[in-house]
Amino acid sequence: MRLPLFRPYRMFPQFDHLSDSECEKYVRDAYINTPGLTAKVPIIAAVLATALWYIGWPIAFVTLPLASYVPMPPSAEWRLVAYIVLGVAFVSLTYFLTRDLGVYFGIRRELRRSNCRKCGQSLQGLPIHSAGADPDPAKQFVRCTECGRRWVLLDLGLSPRDLIPFEQRVVDSRVATRR
Ligand SMILES: [Zn+2]
Repeated sequence: MRLPLFRPYRMFPQFDHLSDSECEKYVRDAYINTPGLTAKVPIIAAVLATALWYIGWPIAFVTLPLASYVPMPPSAEWRLVAYIVLGVAFVSLTYFLTRDLGVYFGIRRELRRSNCRKCGQSLQGLPIHSAGADPDPAKQFVRCTECGRRWVLLDLGLSPRDLIPFEQRVVDSRVATRR
């Protein structure tokens, strides 16, 4: 799906316990919940980079004595080839770097979802209470141990699984074979 130019999710120490595929879940959530950062901004940046390169360079070439500052191939044909190839590389790099930066901020937002909105304390590992007998997600809540605020999981956009500490999420392969 993504070109692994670099893996922005590996910048989070919380993910050290998790496999790449588990982290990809957070990448997908970031794409779903922050489409502006992960999809629109990289495209806008790529368009700007294209304009900067393919309009900026010709203007600079005509108006400035570039040949004495910038190393260029001697023949006009090779200059054209270098100009086009380096332009494609510049635009691609701009796109991938801004996209990974957007994914980084998107994941950061996803991770903060499991923190208390009032005091910032992590809600992971807290017992989930339920108001009423039916397993209605709108009635499941946790209480922040730091400030005592009660949070309904649905309001935070969380599922019970999101509150399991990362290091406990590995499923034991023997789980179904035990008697
Ligand atoms: Zn709190």
